[in-house]
Amino acid sequence: MDAISPKIEPEKNRETLTSNAGQNRPSREEAEKAVHTLLRWIGDDPEREGLLDTPARVVKAYEELYSGYSKSAEEMLGRTFDEVAGYDDIVLVKSIPFHTHCEHHMVPVTGHAHVAYLPNGTVLGLSKIARVVDLFARRLQTQESLTAQIAAAIQDNLDPKGVAVMIEAEHMCMSMRGIEKQGSTTMTTTFTGAFKNDPDEQVRFMTMIRMSA
Ligand SMILES: [Zn+2]
Repeated sequence: MDAISPKIEPEKNRETLTSNAGQNRPSREEAEKAVHTLLRWIGDDPEREGLLDTPARVVKAYEELYSGYSKSAEEMLGRTFDEVAGYDDIVLVKSIPFHTHCEHHMVPVTGHAHVAYLPNGTVLGLSKIARVVDLFARRLQTQESLTAQIAAAIQDNLDPKGVAVMIEAEHMCMSMRGIEKQGSTTMTTTFTGAFKNDPDEQVRFMTMIRMSA
């Protein structure tokens, strides 16, 4: 299968990660024990009433927060795309809210993604763009990787003339710990195809994002 379906780099990473994780995947009980240990390590008593169910709840929450490991962009985007009659200009989905977790501290990162592409005869269902953002957000991330993975997934599966992704996010690991800078926003961009090669297309993308905010 792999030989006939070329995969994008992040997908390869994902498959390496999940297949390795699959082999030695700890049981739910082991995962709950690990949370129990962390509760003791922070100085609390996992046996007190309020914390009795916490390990089970945390593991259950992790299943949802990190559900992106069990899916691929290829499956999510599918193989069929809608034909467009003559529309060949920018499709932009602006301000898609997301939550992810930084891979360094496993602390939340919250922000908005702006995702655009220039169709090459076919378009994606608009909800799929938001779902691709969620797919990668529900893994441990750096903001740079998240931005690049969203762009690569759309470029590789839809094959448009170009993709532009901008992410604006606040990192709780900067707001709550370390240098404690609240309210600072980190911006990252990835451009492919026409957006990468033509500065005018980048300007149009930026202008559309800032228009009628
Ligand atoms: Zn962090």
